[in-house]
Amino acid sequence: MSHLVNYIENRRTFAIIAHPDAGKTTLTEKLLLFGGAIQLAGAVKARGDARRARSDWMKVEQERGISVASSVMTFDYGEQTFNLLDTPGHEDFSEDTYRTLTAVDSAVMVLDGAKGVESQTKKLFEVCRLRDVPIVTFVNKMDRESRDTFEILDEIEQSLALDVTPATLPIGMGRDFLGCYDLINDQLILMERTKGSKIGAGIKVAGLDDPKLDELLPAHAVKKLREDVDMARGLCPEFDHQAYLEGTMTPVFFGSAVNNFGVRELLDGLAKYAPSPRPQQASTRMVQPSEPKVTGIVFKIQANMDPKHRDRIAFMRINSGHFKRGMKLKHLRSGKMINLHNPVLFMAQDREVAEEAVAGDIIGIPNHGNLRIGDTLSETEDLRFIGVPTFAPEYLQKARPADPLKAKHLGKALQQIAEEGGACVFKPNLGADWIVGVVGPLQFEVLADRIRTEYEIPVHFEQTELYTARWIEAPDDKQLKDFVDSNRGATGVDHDGAPVYMARNAWHLNKATEDFPAIKLQKTKEQS
Ligand code: GDP
Repeated sequence: MSHLVNYIENRRTFAIIAHPDAGKTTLTEKLLLFGGAIQLAGAVKARGDARRARSDWMKVEQERGISVASSVMTFDYGEQTFNLLDTPGHEDFSEDTYRTLTAVDSAVMVLDGAKGVESQTKKLFEVCRLRDVPIVTFVNKMDRESRDTFEILDEIEQSLALDVTPATLPIGMGRDFLGCYDLINDQLILMERTKGSKIGAGIKVAGLDDPKLDELLPAHAVKKLREDVDMARGLCPEFDHQAYLEGTMTPVFFGSAVNNFGVRELLDGLAKYAPSPRPQQASTRMVQPSEPKVTGIVFKIQANMDPKHRDRIAFMRINSGHFKRGMKLKHLRSGKMINLHNPVLFMAQDREVAEEAVAGDIIGIPNHGNLRIGDTLSETEDLRFIGVPTFAPEYLQKARPADPLKAKHLGKALQQIAEEGGACVFKPNLGADWIVGVVGPLQFEVLADRIRTEYEIPVHFEQTELYTARWIEAPDDKQLKDFVDSNRGATGVDHDGAPVYMARNAWHLNKATEDFPAIKLQKTKEQS
């Protein structure tokens, strides 16, 4: 039992949020490098059970032609095991990202030092805020001309309404970037301009008055640093661990990912301050990570890229217990037992414990469509985790098969895609078309491509008059029927048969709510 608690306390499950091009990929690589996972990835030294786990995972990757492994990257650093959950990189804000953020305990927000808080940063941050996810900020690309340090700190504070405290302060920038001063540990970290895997060590100084500073840095840099530290200590609140854990304060690290600079301090910060797996809310009670029985929730489904096989990988976050390969878990939605003899584990390859997982870890479960987003699996107790919702789409288009005879096939394909969480699919009460809804318009292209290649149905999407959709919640069946009868042309059902209202504009939406005050039109739907 104490063994389990120890495991869990040393877990850090997190994601990186960033606007495209800020340096998420570069930072990810560097984190893996510091964690030793990159060297390991190339080495074929797995043995025994570990080898079995590894080859399963490779088989899965080959069959699917996609990188399952990169969805979750696990690495050790010091005492800690980090699980870094990847979020899709493209511009379109997708539900996938949203749901992945429901499975982490903290996040790292990467900003480009010259650009500050950008549009995508803000959107992703808002998602984290919804769940009070603690955030550490990494201001990247300090080796380039960047904005003034205090201007950046101020922008984070103003545009995200978040308390900000620098954990490090940069010394110079661009070509004159020399390094950082670590305010938490009172140490100087000088940058070596080496790429690759070389990592410079920090130099311990006894505070800002230490004469070593004057030896190591040019006079003007020391003067500026002392002024900056004074200013930071005068203007910014002190680091408050509790406020960080509650998601109201972010410590800010400065660095240059491409030069491996500032990455270690960031990792040290995460190791020291980021939360271990948090208790999770189930319908009946809170579930503590150290409880002995295994529970977990599916937050993401990755579809098969091979049209001949309809199997998928469900990503489950373990919320409690000690999972071992071969375990049987109850699938609460169907009431059936599922044998997890072939899960994909994302542990570093040569670990002895590669067959196990604890709270905060992610396992991939190959399945044929029986597992859906939001599903709970549990060893014994009947409970249901909440908080992995489906979002009302912001873009709605009609899906039409190029060949009208394929309409039925298209319906099936759309049903499957909706079950995977790839899009919302609505069948209007009137008419024969399928309405497909997404949160970012780029997703239509991705969908059309998937349907063409995976299901061999050429399809096109057409504009509609529709503005948005809402799930209808009624106090009873009679009131639901009244509402649907008087809005026949604007209602339908989703892939689960749940009633939806599709509005042509904001005015219609308001009118519908005013006319039927007992009806609630919901922007999100929890998995039933
Ligand atoms: P992502 O879109 O957020 O994943 O960003 P990438 O990691 O792909 O980085 C975008 C570009 O910025 C690439 O050309 C990187 O080489 C570059 N880059 C990343 N980190 C740094 C840095 O610290 N300094 C500089 N000068 N360039 C960087």
